[in-house]
Amino acid sequence: MSNEDDESWLRVKARLRSEVGDDVFSSWFARMDLEQNSEGAVRLSVPTRFLKSWIQSHYAERVLACWQAEQNEITRIELIVRTAVLKTTVQPKPKAEMLPNAGEGTRGFSSNGIAAGRPMSAGDPGVHEALGGSPLDARLTFDSFVVGRSNTLAQAAARQVAAARRGDAVMFNPLYIHAGVGLGKTHLLQAITWAGNAGGERKVLYLTAEKFMYGFVSALRTQTALAFKEALRGIGVLVIDDLQFLQGKSTQAEFCHTLNALIDAGRQVVIASDRPPSELESLDDRVRSRLAGGLVVEMGTLGEELRFEILKARVVSARSHHPSFDVPAPVLSYIAKTVTHNGRDLEGALNRLLAHNKLTGQSVTLEMAEREVRDLIRPQEPKRVKIEDIQRIVARQYNVSRSDLLSSRRTANVVRPRQVAMYLAKTLTLRSLPEIGRRFGGRDHTTVLHAVRKIEGLVGNDMALAEEIEILKRQLQE
Ligand code: ADP
Ligand code: MG
Repeated sequence: MSNEDDESWLRVKARLRSEVGDDVFSSWFARMDLEQNSEGAVRLSVPTRFLKSWIQSHYAERVLACWQAEQNEITRIELIVRTAVLKTTVQPKPKAEMLPNAGEGTRGFSSNGIAAGRPMSAGDPGVHEALGGSPLDARLTFDSFVVGRSNTLAQAAARQVAAARRGDAVMFNPLYIHAGVGLGKTHLLQAITWAGNAGGERKVLYLTAEKFMYGFVSALRTQTALAFKEALRGIGVLVIDDLQFLQGKSTQAEFCHTLNALIDAGRQVVIASDRPPSELESLDDRVRSRLAGGLVVEMGTLGEELRFEILKARVVSARSHHPSFDVPAPVLSYIAKTVTHNGRDLEGALNRLLAHNKLTGQSVTLEMAEREVRDLIRPQEPKRVKIEDIQRIVARQYNVSRSDLLSSRRTANVVRPRQVAMYLAKTLTLRSLPEIGRRFGGRDHTTVLHAVRKIEGLVGNDMALAEEIEILKRQLQE
């Protein structure tokens, strides 16, 4: 590219800045680079997929107009996500900005288990958050994991991994656990994470495949090769849940790269999936063989005996909050026998008994259980979504704070996420417009209606936004 191009680019940026304002500019465009300008087409790059889709859906025309004001022969803007390799035009950033702060990579493991949501700056899907891991459930520990025939080996391997010290020889790498839905994979992986981090010596990072794709990988793409290595150095154990959801060629390449780098450096990798490596059809052969080269353990279905033990343990833990709650052994046996599907259904069955018991004051009987369990066997109702969850997840996705969503701020980087959140509240919950308005900082119902219509209008022809909303919905309903 010529100097002339560089100068045009500077002028285009200045124009853009004056049109959208400093706030919006630094949120979305500060890290946009010019890659190419030829034959009426300008190629611009941004460091993350998220920025790309955001800019594409909200500012594509404006960016084009700014270019046209500068060079009227330009007819097309192409936006790409730059990879570390492609990034030739980018100046190295100061070290502090490139690396996850050594002490903060574990912020996702604060006691409430929520990934650190506060962005470094609005619109910057910062490395902190991206390396911050997925939320953890405080109940999913080794203490609450009941061991039976179907999961003895997996549990022993998981304990071994969690107990390993820095510098110990890694015995099986990766540890790959597979099982059907609700058989305890996530429970075991989170148990490793809690126990490993409690030691404080090695950092255990827990990520769902989705988080890996949309957070971790894009954060790594903004890094240089050197910074990438440094970032990985901070991780003692990388835990990835639901690997079957990992999709896309380039994501897989990043995954492969990460896996190799970690394993070669003697770091532990733990993976869970709903199928064995050989059945991950979309993965490339090298990755598959690398996965199969560690310890692959299957967890079988929960046998009746194990189901009984899980139920019993659940009752004990429920009693710490609800001392009057008691479930006679015959009722436990009955549930263990009839509710066969998976751990989640067992939990559901007990929750129903508990709710019934609390609401009516009746003690739990076989008859009550029969009624409640029959109810459970009916087709599952879709999960009920809470407005708080919507606000939390939307805020996290767009790197704004929850209080920004509720505030009266009207800058572009909070207005759109707020509209998205209101739209989701309307479509995923049964709350009325006035109720939603109240929950969003006391707004009028017409504001909510406007937001809902706005987003409905946009998703029809904006694929990127539609996709973002799909992802949000999935996160909310999982
Ligand atoms: P998966 O990730 O395999 O779909 P989860 O780990 O989410 O399954 O388990 C579903 C539910 O069943 C959770 O509430 C979990 O605590 C419970 N569960 C599964 N296996 C066990 C076990 N061995 N001991 C205690 N609880 C279990
Ligand atoms: Mg799971």
